[in-house]
Amino acid sequence: MPINAKKAAIDVVENQWGQDLITSWNKHAWIDLPTTVGEKIAPLIGAEKGQVICCDSISVNLFKLLASAFQLSTPERTIVLSQQDNFPTDLYMVEGLQQMLGSQQCALLTCDADELEAMLQARGHEISVLMLTHVNFRSGKIHDMQKLTQLAHEQGVLVIWDLAHSAGVVPVELDNCKVDFALGCGYKYLNGGPGAPAFIYAAKRHIPNLKQPLTGWMGHAKPFTFDPNYVPDVGIKKFLSGTPSVIAMAVLSAALDLFEHVTMSQIREKSVAMTHFYQCLIEQSQTLSDLVMASPITSDNRGSQLAYRHPQAYALCQALISHGVIADFRAPDILRFGFSPSFLSFEQLFDSVEKLKAIIESEQYKLPEFNRKQAVT
Ligand SMILES: *Cc1c(COP(=O)(O)O)cnc(C)c1O
Repeated sequence: MPINAKKAAIDVVENQWGQDLITSWNKHAWIDLPTTVGEKIAPLIGAEKGQVICCDSISVNLFKLLASAFQLSTPERTIVLSQQDNFPTDLYMVEGLQQMLGSQQCALLTCDADELEAMLQARGHEISVLMLTHVNFRSGKIHDMQKLTQLAHEQGVLVIWDLAHSAGVVPVELDNCKVDFALGCGYKYLNGGPGAPAFIYAAKRHIPNLKQPLTGWMGHAKPFTFDPNYVPDVGIKKFLSGTPSVIAMAVLSAALDLFEHVTMSQIREKSVAMTHFYQCLIEQSQTLSDLVMASPITSDNRGSQLAYRHPQAYALCQALISHGVIADFRAPDILRFGFSPSFLSFEQLFDSVEKLKAIIESEQYKLPEFNRKQAVT
């Protein structure tokens, strides 16, 4: 948690809401938050102005983008191509659209990551959208955004990149890669806190032609004329639907100020050094020899995380948490470490590996308290 995120939370509640009440929509520019926060995210993902807006969750934003992409492409293109081990909500949202439009209009097709290029070549003429997550949520493997976007475009296919595990930690060049659409969340490496709003990127060349289906009043060209007919905003604001979550967005906005003091390449440099250091510490330990690397071996195609398979991954994760090392378990057997370069030190990394060794050597992970499944794993 960035210190100024906490200060912003207190300020927005005590002063902006507590004292100024609804006058804050103007006085503290609450109404502009989706735009101002979007513009803070833009440089982190290689986007020029006017193409990024902060709103809703990834799931909801993905629905808006998928539907917009379908509107742009021709009716004979009915397929959304994705990867079998994409984050489930991304696949679920396509299933929902498929249910609504009927599978004659929209159908999800998934394959393994290494089959994507062949699939694009073979079935490109049937595909409307290539929808991928840039950094895989389990393994941390990075896709070649430039190459896949270009291959898709050669087949007339639009691309949507999910930047959930990229934004704020892996440099991304959306404009340079000529990406059509992207989205990501505010609560991972952007440090916006639990349930922080997400963001949408749409390339400037597409914006005038886009029609998104969740046509709420905040996406209207003039919301405060209360016109009975919907007229979309001409810019990226057309992706807004309802009233922004002001408290959450104010906190995310403050958290993003951290990036004014550091470049994405500095963040990437420390992130790479950290994952490499951690990987070496684990490899060198006899005690940790049962941890099997499930991430790419080299950092050039790996995000800011390391995943290890272990039959006791869940219990190890719980035991680590009890020692103040907060890792993730990902079913069925993955222990995942995320490295947040702005907040972690190498010393903390070293200490956490020592703790992991002690947990295994003492067999502490076998304790019943570390083997009870909680609601959120
Ligand atoms: C975290 C994550 C999400 C989360 O979606 P929400 O709708 O914001 O809960 C979606 N996709 C990917 C790839 C993620 O890693």
